[in-house]
Amino acid sequence: MDLPRRPPAELDTMRHAQYFKRITQIMPWQMASYDSIRMLFGFFAISGLDLLNSLKILKEEDRLGAVEWIYRLQVKEAGGRSGFQASTMLPDEPSEYLCGHLSMTYTALATLLTLGDDLSRVDKKSIIEGIRSCQNPDGCFIAMITGSESDMRFLYSACCICAILDDWSGFNKDRAIDYIIKSISYDGAMGQGPGLESHGGSTFCAVASLYLMNELHNALTLEQLERLRRWCLMRQNDGFQGRPGKPTDTCYSFWVGATLHMLDVQQYSDAEENREYVLSTQDTRIGGFAKSYDMRADPLHAYLGLSALSLLGEPALQPMNAALNISNRAYAHLKDLHKKWNQ
Ligand SMILES: [Zn+2]
Repeated sequence: MDLPRRPPAELDTMRHAQYFKRITQIMPWQMASYDSIRMLFGFFAISGLDLLNSLKILKEEDRLGAVEWIYRLQVKEAGGRSGFQASTMLPDEPSEYLCGHLSMTYTALATLLTLGDDLSRVDKKSIIEGIRSCQNPDGCFIAMITGSESDMRFLYSACCICAILDDWSGFNKDRAIDYIIKSISYDGAMGQGPGLESHGGSTFCAVASLYLMNELHNALTLEQLERLRRWCLMRQNDGFQGRPGKPTDTCYSFWVGATLHMLDVQQYSDAEENREYVLSTQDTRIGGFAKSYDMRADPLHAYLGLSALSLLGEPALQPMNAALNISNRAYAHLKDLHKKWNQ
């Protein structure tokens, strides 16, 4: 039986800041199995605090400690294996497991930027080499060179890395665009790859990738853009669903909301309904957001709930860059770095 939806409370910024601070210190034992993606949790927590204008809640030594922890996970001068790993629990001795992962590299770089680091210790040349060796002949990317799955998530991660490092020399844009176009489903949105069902998450990855390549309006025809806009707008119930017929889920208020934002049509969605849904999923006792009001809060939905509210212009939150999924403050810092690198 469905429980009645909780009445939306106001955004509880203090409680959410405490929630993210706790994640930087200790994780509940129920999340031990997520150790293989710990970098991602660091990104959610640090970027979440940034959106809340609360990075200062961490002591300076803890912010510096986080920067050092991330650099410890860098696999340097390792050719196609270069990049960042997910966790210090992985072996750091040379072995087949010592290998960067595209999504961990993207979130490591994004978190370093958010912490104000100047990326001077990033082995940029080797990371670009890593990108080059992860691109398949079909244009998509594998997550890591030692062999792994390949889909739109890793194509998007590769785009974020190239955009952050301001270097696309290891990335074949024509082949990547071809893969994205072939992944457009019969209903106008994108799947994880050709012939697969369209989905809010893969559609975000595809559209953000084209946006970061500065090819969104060249690669897609006006008709393709219109069908895509329509598909995304049709995903709204109160919040958003990821696929037709699926229940509403907080994270799609970001995945689909950010896609609408990049397609310049967010104003045609019902912002108030969307905001109310996201706020109804916040945990008002321990902080964080859940996928729906009757579920437990988790770091992914906590961060993406805040991101969705930020894109709706929530006054207590930092505005954000939808394509890179970082705050505008972190993005401005990145633009300053690009200027310096190009002097
Ligand atoms: Zn979700």
